[in-house]
Amino acid sequence: MSSNLPGATLPILPGAMLGILGGGQLGRMFTLAARTMGYKVMVLDPNATSPAGQMADIHVQADYNDPAALKQLGDRCAAVTTEFENVPAASLIELANYCRVSPGAEAVAIVQDRSHEKTWLTDNGFATAAFALINQEADLETALTATGTPALLKVSRFGYDGKGQARVSTLDEARAAFREFGDQPCVLEGFVKLACEVSVVLARDDSGHCELFPVAENHHENGILDVSIVPARVPEGLAQQAREMARAVAGKLGYVGVMAVEFFVVGDQLMINEIAPRPHNSGHYTLDACVTDQFEQQVRALCGLPLGDPRLLSPVAMVNILGDRWHNGGPHWDALLAHPGIKLHLYGKEAARPGRKMGHFNVLDADLETALDLAGRMRDAL
Ligand code: AMP
Repeated sequence: MSSNLPGATLPILPGAMLGILGGGQLGRMFTLAARTMGYKVMVLDPNATSPAGQMADIHVQADYNDPAALKQLGDRCAAVTTEFENVPAASLIELANYCRVSPGAEAVAIVQDRSHEKTWLTDNGFATAAFALINQEADLETALTATGTPALLKVSRFGYDGKGQARVSTLDEARAAFREFGDQPCVLEGFVKLACEVSVVLARDDSGHCELFPVAENHHENGILDVSIVPARVPEGLAQQAREMARAVAGKLGYVGVMAVEFFVVGDQLMINEIAPRPHNSGHYTLDACVTDQFEQQVRALCGLPLGDPRLLSPVAMVNILGDRWHNGGPHWDALLAHPGIKLHLYGKEAARPGRKMGHFNVLDADLETALDLAGRMRDAL
């Protein structure tokens, strides 16, 4: 069918099958958005009970590089996207022989590897924390001189939510951490004194047009996002600068789809921490607080539809619900659901492990401080 061929006529309209690599919560929320709009969804994920697989029309249970599974996706889907950066770039290249793929393999290959990502950012003139690439233990000594101490050693591939990171203050500690990570390529980063962290989620279409969601202010616990606050409580000039930097990153990557840029605020300066080639945890507030949410925007960008209106309808605080809450008799959903301004989202994960993202809730109120206060009380009451 011609609509399945690469370069198929856009827009891809409801009724078509969309594919997604990865069956986690981001894939689930993409699937829900796509199905709401009348699309069918095929999820590729090796896990039999994945959060997105539960919601999909078709769940292909196979590895991300399984040739038969990729062919099945390519044959059946008008377009394919991804919900996580660690998808093999080769799979995206293979899929692009069959159908529209967004984001493209080239952008994903850059941002899925911290060494490539940091190098790309500095080569393109974007500020980052001081860093050095570590390919072998012998690189650590000079690197520590360049970054100063304390520093963070981060694995280049497959790190997430603070995993694969170690704070080091001496050469011996850096050596021990490098060995602990199995001598794999790493980035050593200078430890930055953060005023706060902010992020921008945006969508970019084929013509280069961008729609940016409002800037989120993010607070982490143990390296995991805890609360996002929108609008971010930073000066408007800084928020504007974050939006323009995010737009410039997407433009220089030639990106098509939804992406997020995370920033450190250091004094009145911004440094880019990370780029995510997908919707982002800090954009979950858009589900209830914006005209268009980040997952509908992912569907729109993938299908070549006009991008939706990202306008904020209400101040909001988003709180992540981690598996830790399942201990000590919790979670107490009744307390949370008693509040009409709170919207609960659970991801359908069976096993609640400490640190595992099980869901989130959005607290909406016309007054941000009121929303924040209720978010804090509900977070503790859960
Ligand atoms: P990452 O996985 O790189 O996003 O790191 C997780 C969290 O650790 C960040 O959101 C920050 O709160 C903190 N962090 C990471 N890198 C640095 C750094 N160079 N300086 C200070 N804090 C950092």
